[in-house]
Amino acid sequence: MTHLFHRAPLSPPLLATGGEGCFLIGADGKRYLDGSGGAAVSCLGHSDDTVKAAVHAQIDALPFAHTGFFTSAPAEALAEKLIAQAPEGFGRVYLTSGGSESVEAALKLARQWAIDSGQPDRRRIIARDQSYHGNTLGALATGGNAARRAPFAPLLPETWHIPPCYAYRGQDNGESEAEYGRRAADTLEAQILALGPETVLAFVAETVVGATLGSVPAAQGYFRRIREICDQYGILLILDEVMCGSGRCGTFFAFEAEGITPDIVTIAKGLGAGYQPIGAVLCTEALYQTIVNASGAFQHGHTYIGHPVAAAAANAVMGRLIDDDVLGRVIPAGEALQAALTDRLGQHPHIGDIRGRGLFRSVELVADRDTKTPFDPARKLHAKVKTAAMEEGLVCYPMGGTADGKAGDHVLLAPPYIISEDEIGMLADRLSAAIDRALDA
Ligand code: PMP
Repeated sequence: MTHLFHRAPLSPPLLATGGEGCFLIGADGKRYLDGSGGAAVSCLGHSDDTVKAAVHAQIDALPFAHTGFFTSAPAEALAEKLIAQAPEGFGRVYLTSGGSESVEAALKLARQWAIDSGQPDRRRIIARDQSYHGNTLGALATGGNAARRAPFAPLLPETWHIPPCYAYRGQDNGESEAEYGRRAADTLEAQILALGPETVLAFVAETVVGATLGSVPAAQGYFRRIREICDQYGILLILDEVMCGSGRCGTFFAFEAEGITPDIVTIAKGLGAGYQPIGAVLCTEALYQTIVNASGAFQHGHTYIGHPVAAAAANAVMGRLIDDDVLGRVIPAGEALQAALTDRLGQHPHIGDIRGRGLFRSVELVADRDTKTPFDPARKLHAKVKTAAMEEGLVCYPMGGTADGKAGDHVLLAPPYIISEDEIGMLADRLSAAIDRALDA
């Protein structure tokens, strides 16, 4: 008997009782290779002694101090560490308890900046189709995941969505990657002009799309053109790196690979690595000073922001990523994963694309490789892959395609950065077995 809400109440989840390195251990002793870090969370695996010790020490020293009264050493240290990783001009960090909270805070920060910089008409948010920014109302409204939005549509503030930059399905025959990137970015300008540039507040995008499309990096030059458009019309660029940031794509911030900097960036997931719930919003010092000078402070807050124990965990995670250079493993391990997936699945008649960056990789399943026709979503292939993978002893993150056929079923992989070569091989073996079983089911 359970009194918990479960995601799939008719088949309650397995009971997890332990974790060791890249494995989760079930109550029956079965070991599951964590091929997706849950949902791109557990970047250091499940038994990192340094992070565990930091959490224990902070609980002993100071479990909680409300930010209405105090700051704390771990929160201050974390902000310093994050700013040290951020590009020039970034000066401030707002700590949260997770991804949706980070996105909500970023939206409100943008809006307050508009008011405090004398541009109160700027209120419209433009984001992208087939994106995900969280499940709270502001974040859900920003996301372009039609199925998740649908039941709550009457509660959501109005937002506008442009198509994603998704070369596998968007790039035309005969069009170069750079041409496609430019064309995809230019849809932002068209949307801004249609709305009236002076009414647009911000453009929000995942630097590398995660949950809805499956680790899709933008085409070359896309974000440089996006930055140009935002600058031209005085619009803030908010990059949501809740999933793709914190080193997941091989650089601490995924935007480092794009040659641009946003005005605001959100992170979460890998920042706490699953040891504590924590997220952060970083913004430029100029943006922060505009707000402080005009209204004294950012008008926002939650009880648990800057939680000392969560901040202590994140400090330890940052220490492991940066000082111990666990981050340096991501690019080579990601290439090894891409090679293993290509070896096992590259010729598979129902694998249309194997893609990603760093340890953020996906395979897209198609009914027909030549036409890229997705499987009928009613077949729920992604759910079958998940079940078969768990039977094989693999945690992965399959997602269904969209009803309009603009995205197919795919499986997202985001293993811990400490994954070994043997474990990469095991991941690819178990995934290909699971996909074959799901296709036969
Ligand atoms: N933004 C992105 C890009 C995400 O992938 C997610 C979670 N999958 C969120 C926001 C929401 O984060 P959380 O679930 O921690 O609220």
